[in-house]
Amino acid sequence: MPGTSGARPLPRAALVPVLTASLSLAGCAVTPSPTTSTTSSSPTVGASTPAPSPSAPGGDRSDRPLEGVVVALDPGHNADNATSPETRELVDAGGGLEKPCNSTGAVAADGERESAHTWAVAVALADALAELGATTPMTRDADAGWGPCVDARGRFGAEQDADLTVSIHADGAGADGRDRGFHVIRPGALEGWTDDVVDDSADLAVALRDALVDAGFEPSTYRGVDGIDVRSDLGTLNWSDVPVVVVETHNMHHPVEGPAMRTREVQQRLADALADGVTAYVTARGD
Ligand SMILES: [Zn+2]
Repeated sequence: MPGTSGARPLPRAALVPVLTASLSLAGCAVTPSPTTSTTSSSPTVGASTPAPSPSAPGGDRSDRPLEGVVVALDPGHNADNATSPETRELVDAGGGLEKPCNSTGAVAADGERESAHTWAVAVALADALAELGATTPMTRDADAGWGPCVDARGRFGAEQDADLTVSIHADGAGADGRDRGFHVIRPGALEGWTDDVVDDSADLAVALRDALVDAGFEPSTYRGVDGIDVRSDLGTLNWSDVPVVVVETHNMHHPVEGPAMRTREVQQRLADALADGVTAYVTARGD
C-alpha cells in the first residue's frame, strides 16, 4: 500500500489555517449534489480493503488504537454515473423521500470529477486507518462504473458490522468561486430511521471537525455552523444503522482550494486528519 511516509510538509499556502470565524450563516443547506439515478435493488456494493497485517508479537498496542474496529468508507458518487441511466431511477432515500439512485457529483471548471477526488481520499484514508489497526470495507472498489445507490451506501455499514461509516464527498455548491472550506454533515433525527444513531453520529461529526481544524483545514464559509451541518434528506445518512457522517472536504469551485485539494500531499493530510478524528471518536467511547 502506498506509503505513509509521514508526510508532514506544509501544505500550500492555500490551505494553511485560515480559521476565520465567518461562520455566521447558519444555513441549513439543501443542496444535494446533482443526481442521476437508479434502481431497484442494490447494485454491487462492495469490496473490502485488506485487513492490516496482524501486529507483531509483543507489539505496542498503543500504536494500533483501532485494532478490531471496522470503519466503513463510502467514496461518494462514481465515474460513470453521468452516463448510466440506472442511476436516475428512484430509490427510497428514507424519511418519506424518493431520490435518484445516485448522482453525477460536482465537476470542477477544469473537468475534475468529484468521484475521482472522493476515491483518492478514501484510499488514502483506508491506508491511514489500516495502519492504526482498523478494517476498512468500502462501498465501491474503484472509480469506475455506476452507483451504488444511496440506500445501499447507507445500509453498507451495518451489513459490514462496522462501528461507523464515513462518507467522503466534495461540495459543488455555488460556482462563483467564493465559497470554501469543509463541512461535516450528520443525520437529523428521523423517527424510525436515524433515531438510533443520531447522537453517536453527532459525536463523530464533532470529532472529525475538530481533527480537521487541528490539521489546519478551514470550516465552511457558507454552510452549517462551525463546520457541521445537519440534514435529513440524504439516503446515505438516513439508511445507516451505524453512526455515520458525510464529509464534504472542500468546495471544488474555489480557485485556490480546489487545485490544492487535488495534490497528493494535501489529500494525505486530509486523510491523516480524518483518521485522527476517527481515533478520537473511538477512544472517547472507551471500547
Ligand atoms: Zn457529493
